[in-house]
Amino acid sequence: MVERIVTVVGDLGLHARAAAKLVRVASRFQSNVRLSRVDGGTSANAKSVLSVLMLAANRGTELHATAEGADEEEALQAVSTLFSAGFGEAREVEKPVHTGHAEMRWTGLGVSEGVVIARVMRMHTGTKYVYRARIEEGELERELRRFRAAVRLARRQLLIIKDRAERQLGRDHAAVFDAHLLLLEDVKLIGDVENYISKRQVNAEWAVKVVGDQLISLYSEIKDDYLRARGSDIEDVVQRLLVTLSGEPPQPRKLRESVVIVSQELLPSAVAELDLEFARAIATDTGGWTSHTAIIARGLGIPAVVGLRDFYRRARTGDEIVVDAIRGIVILHPSPATLAQYESEAAARPVRPTEVRSQDGPLRTLDGIEIRLRANVEVPAEFAGVRNFGASGIGLYRSEFLLSRRGVMVSEDEQYAAYAEIAKLAGDGGAIIRLFDLGGENALGGEPERNPALGLRAIRFGLQHEDVMRTQVRAILRAAADGHVGIVLPMVADVDDVRRAKAIIQEEQANLESLGLRHGRVEVGAMIEVPSAVLSADKIARSVKFFELGTNDLVQYTLAVDRGNDAVAHWFRSLHPAVLSSIAQSLAAAQREGIPAIVCGEMASTPAYAVLLIGLGAVDLSMIPSSIPRVRRVLSKIDSRDARGIAQQCLECASAGEVEDLVRKSFLARWPDLFPASALPEVIDAN
Ligand code: PEP
Ligand code: MG
Repeated sequence: MVERIVTVVGDLGLHARAAAKLVRVASRFQSNVRLSRVDGGTSANAKSVLSVLMLAANRGTELHATAEGADEEEALQAVSTLFSAGFGEAREVEKPVHTGHAEMRWTGLGVSEGVVIARVMRMHTGTKYVYRARIEEGELERELRRFRAAVRLARRQLLIIKDRAERQLGRDHAAVFDAHLLLLEDVKLIGDVENYISKRQVNAEWAVKVVGDQLISLYSEIKDDYLRARGSDIEDVVQRLLVTLSGEPPQPRKLRESVVIVSQELLPSAVAELDLEFARAIATDTGGWTSHTAIIARGLGIPAVVGLRDFYRRARTGDEIVVDAIRGIVILHPSPATLAQYESEAAARPVRPTEVRSQDGPLRTLDGIEIRLRANVEVPAEFAGVRNFGASGIGLYRSEFLLSRRGVMVSEDEQYAAYAEIAKLAGDGGAIIRLFDLGGENALGGEPERNPALGLRAIRFGLQHEDVMRTQVRAILRAAADGHVGIVLPMVADVDDVRRAKAIIQEEQANLESLGLRHGRVEVGAMIEVPSAVLSADKIARSVKFFELGTNDLVQYTLAVDRGNDAVAHWFRSLHPAVLSSIAQSLAAAQREGIPAIVCGEMASTPAYAVLLIGLGAVDLSMIPSSIPRVRRVLSKIDSRDARGIAQQCLECASAGEVEDLVRKSFLARWPDLFPASALPEVIDAN
């Protein structure tokens, strides 16, 4: 028997046409020819099309090919030649698109508005398959050189990524790449890989994988959270080395033209690696309206459609694509008619409201109610918008975005610098810094939790890891010396959480005082985003200086719907009467106590929802900066008494569908010029 590892190189994978070719070639020989996936599982008879298709081998899949019989050498040679030639169609995807591909459409959820026509850039999220090959003694030196070249290439890539991350996402996001660069110089990693190659006479890929896995498992046993988190950095570097060894071009790092990033799932940290100059849109299989990736996409003004289920599998790098985040669809291989339609729509589209800069001066409704509009920010690329769009201060700074990698802490001084910058940017309007909202979607390096959304998240994480919280609090208090700064406590469940957090803040204040270090006073507020906080809002209001209503989580927890799970997206209904009633109750509790209540969830960014929030009693909203002008324009043209009347009727409704129907009908009747039908919530199931 003879054997060999072959790799599927064609972008389309081992699809039907290629499988047919393979079967024709293998059948010319007498020998038995078999293929099995190197990563285990399926094995196929190369003379059966069905059997070959069952391998589900896409680009990059490694297969173990064997031939046994009288003409085994020739059979294996013929089969491997077919693989290395990419079945004669490896360059197919580079041809223009209109060469027989039928247009295909997927429907998802448009989470950041806009329309983009560009090419697909797939971004892997999975692990590469790694094969083991024996290297002859005489070839070892060459294998070592190949490995060192891959390390140098990885290093060059990282320097470029780091530089870009620093410019677009801030120094703290970029710092993680320093750690990666150091790992590439680390004798333990690099030396062990080289030793493994020489001693075991194996290929570099295999050595990288084995040594990497050993190091990762060592790290996973470390008790210290910070150190344990370095395990994920090793994983990243190992992946990068495997990619550079494979000779594949780096993922979206070498972009020369506008692309749409297509991925199964895009974690917030992956945003740090996007080339924002060329990444024009995002399309992902998972995610929801309030996932943090969606929030960042909106903040950066990149159109995004999420929840596309199996789109990633079907798209290929280089395919032409339309991302229509207004309608929540993506179109692969658009037909000439579709392209023409989008081009004419683009020409006819009025200037987007987000492009209209705001006027100065306080915002008032027609009946004279003053409304304050603040900005939510996460990364430096959004900062310019705070001034440009006329925000009245920063209502929510999601500080966990400072931590560009899961659970990797930033020092007190680095945090201080970041908070001081935020305070300066916010000016007289002040900045409200939220203590790290870690856990849940922003998972940490620790043990995975069975139910992260209900686990050690947000303030619970801070109270459990007091060191982390105290460091952050000190940095914020120091930044408050030169600016107006507030602290908001994420996801408090009740007054106990507030009391414990406030005690820590007061102790740190006293510590700074006794050390004679410069610092300022901060007001402490509570995020109201879980039902228990709503139900005890009166009591919480007595122990804080302000409320922030996080409607994203309020919807998630009130309706028990995972905000990032597209399978239940249908149940994520911001206009559910239970949600509206929770908002109204919380606003009323704040008003009774005479404290401000800022609504800072995504609802506030959408004009129709903002009107409803005003109707429920809100006068202070915080949103992505680019939404401020359009929300401002709409609110300045409504009478809050009309909004109140409609909101009261909504509170009487029995279901989300009824509210959606009521909002559509009453807004269209009352404000036909302000709200075209396309700007109003869809009615999903009015009954
Ligand atoms: C919210 O939950 O509405 C909120 C503002 O916070 P985040 O989206 O960061 O959870
Ligand atoms: Mg929240």
